[in-house]
Amino acid sequence: MTENRLGDIVDDYCSKCTLLTNHAVVALVDDIPERVRCRTCYYEHKYRHGKMGTKKRSSNKKSDLFNEVLAKITGGEVYT
Ligand SMILES: [Zn+2]
Repeated sequence: MTENRLGDIVDDYCSKCTLLTNHAVVALVDDIPERVRCRTCYYEHKYRHGKMGTKKRSSNKKSDLFNEVLAKITGGEVYT
């Protein structure tokens, strides 16, 4: 498991499945996976080294989600 080859199966985070899934390596740069394709949904993306999304976005996304949930709870309406 020291060398990576095209078609190798690696674990990576799929943003479509929002899960760590098996990915097939479709592009290599210096023996490091560059692009991978999810074996579950066939979504092709940059190899994320098994990390979930980007560091900066994760916090923003969380607050966005929180606001979304809040809006649902309040219904975005003003009480009468
Ligand atoms: Zn997927």
